Formats: sequence, C-alpha cells, structure tokens
Amino acid sequence: NYTLGSKISDWDEQRRRWLAENPGFPSQTPAGKPRILLVTGSPPNPCDNPIGDHYLLKGTKNKIDYCRLHGIEIVYNMAHLDRELAGYWAKLPLIRRLMLSHPEVEWIWWMDSDALFTDMAFEIPLDRYAAHNLVVHGYPDLIFEKHSWIGLNTGSFLLRNCQWSLDLLDAWAPMGPKGPIRDEAGKMLTANLKGRPAFEADDQSALIYLLLSQHDRWGDKIYIENSYYLHGYWAGLVDRYEEMMEKYHPGLGDERWPFVTHFVGCKPCGSYGDYPVERCLRSMERAFNFADNQVLRMYGFAHGNLASPRIRRTEKQTAKPLEFLDQLNLEARGFYMG
Ligand code: UDP
Ligand code: MN
Repeated sequence: NYTLGSKISDWDEQRRRWLAENPGFPSQTPAGKPRILLVTGSPPNPCDNPIGDHYLLKGTKNKIDYCRLHGIEIVYNMAHLDRELAGYWAKLPLIRRLMLSHPEVEWIWWMDSDALFTDMAFEIPLDRYAAHNLVVHGYPDLIFEKHSWIGLNTGSFLLRNCQWSLDLLDAWAPMGPKGPIRDEAGKMLTANLKGRPAFEADDQSALIYLLLSQHDRWGDKIYIENSYYLHGYWAGLVDRYEEMMEKYHPGLGDERWPFVTHFVGCKPCGSYGDYPVERCLRSMERAFNFADNQVLRMYGFAHGNLASPRIRRTEKQTAKPLEFLDQLNLEARGFYMG
C-alpha cells in the first residue's frame, strides 16, 4: 500500500513546540502576516521543444517579480522526490516535504509552471481563510451538483502547514503511483466525474473525488474561492487584456483584472496539448507582457504592444528620480518596512 512517508499524527504539537523553541523563525512576517512559501517547479529534463524552456523561464521571472513585491519566498523544484508520483502528482510529496522542513511557514502555495500572475498588486485575502486549511479556486455547484471534473482547479492553491493537511495529502495520494494503480484509478474517475476524458488519474480529479466521497471528513476546512482568480482559465482572459487596461487597474484580481492566468491544456514543454501550440505561445506571450508591464512601470518602461517583448520608455529621464517613485514600487518597500 502506497504512503507518502512515515505516518505523522502529532504534527500540530511538534510544530508548536518547534516554533516556541525557535523564536528566530516566526510563522508571521515582520508585517504581521502569515508566512507564505510559493512552490512551483518543472520536470527534471529539458522540454521537448526549446521554446518550452523559454516560457518556463518567463513563468519563473513572473513569479519572482510577484513574490519580490509581496515578500513571499519561492521554492522551484526540478527533482522527482518520489519516483512513483512523477508528473502532476509530484506536487504532493514536495508540498509534504516542504511543510515538514519549514515549520516556520504557515501556508504553502502551490502554483503550476504554466500559471502566470497577471495582477501584480493583488494580495490573497488571508484573513478570510482563518478557519480553513485548503484554499482552492472552484465552484461548489459544479463540484457537488454536477460532479464536474473541472469544478475546481489544482493549478494554484494554498495549503496550511498543519496535521489536517498531512492527513489530506495521505488521503489524496493513493491514486497517484504511476502504472496500473494510476491507470485503474483514471478509469474510476472518468466513470464518476462529468466531462472527464479517459486518461490516467490526475491530482485534480482525485481531489474532487475525495471531496465528493468524503465530504464530511474534509469539506468544512476547504474554502472554495471564486470571488477572484486564484486560478483563471486563460482562454476567456487573454484576448481581453487591452479592454482591461482601458477600463480597469491592477489590484482587483477578478474578471476585471485577473490575479492568475493559467494555461490549462497548453503543453509548451511537452509534445502534445489540447490547443494548437502557436495559439498557446501567442497567448502566453500576451499574458507575460501584460503582467510585465505592471513591473516595468516601476522603472518607467512598458511593452508597446502585448504581442512583443520590445519595450519603450514611458517616462522622461530625470535628474531627480526619487520624486517620481511609482506607487507599486513604494508599496513593495512598505511591505519590508512592516
Ligand atoms: N510539474 C513538475 N514536475 C513534473 C511535471 C509537472 O513540477 O515533472 C508541475 C509543473 O509546475 C506543472 C504542474 O506540475 O505546471 C502540473 O502538471 P502539468 O503541466 O502536466 O498539468 P497541467 O498544468 O497541464 O494541468
Ligand atoms: Mn497547469
């Protein structure tokens, strides 16, 4: 029987003791917010096509920018910590390992390599989740009434560092081992989840199935968020960026200015996806530049149009640069000052 590691049943107590003994590693930031660790990664080997590696790099730069502006640390993983849980399942053993190695971290935030921050000013409303341990983007009616396999999305979610989460990972992982177990579980998931194509078990379907089959055990600690795009499906967003720039501003996080744009079904690093690769790459370029404009602005530059990596100067050069520090730039500093 597959397990993620030694059974741990008193993590809350172990962690509480460690935090008390190590006051130099508080679980809150100097600004008094719960400490977040953003975790992402990509496969250990080069992409099938070199352009995939270029977009992995852009995705990484995008995450570094967001995290720098908001005082969040990043882990980028390229190893398969558990050979059986390769591919999209790799996030499970990784998250568990990081929770145990970083007791000072309150929230682990998993984000797929193919998800980009497109609102550089928006911040997760953590206060809202004080009574919850998993925050995931989704729609309760799609999950609980329709049993839809896209009722929630596991490309961007927050998991609290606590015993409940270790238990969830233990309950979530058993469909993951590569080979007959994953294949058989995939058939079961396709039979039970609406709209799911026939393929091996994936972590997203497994989580939805867990939520449906053991709602009493997990439901009350899972916050299903849809008031902003913790995950935003790219196809409905990338063609509207110009309209958003005309009408709205960063910081909204919802359909007016999506927090995250996630390229579900695009596989620029692999060989096949659900969409033509040119459309994916063009759309990823647009999302990256839309986000990058919010960063470049701080330095007086912008992409002239979202299709191109070329930039232009948006501010005159000045001998008194400190008189024109951009608002986002100042807010980023404000964070570090507490
Ligand atoms: N991933 C990883 N190592 C791997 C394969 C995938 O870290 O060997 C991560 C990567 O960040 C990726 C995520 O898992 O974005 C989800 O996997 P995949 O891209 O296959 O699924 P999709 O994003 O298309 O749902
Ligand atoms: Mn993804």
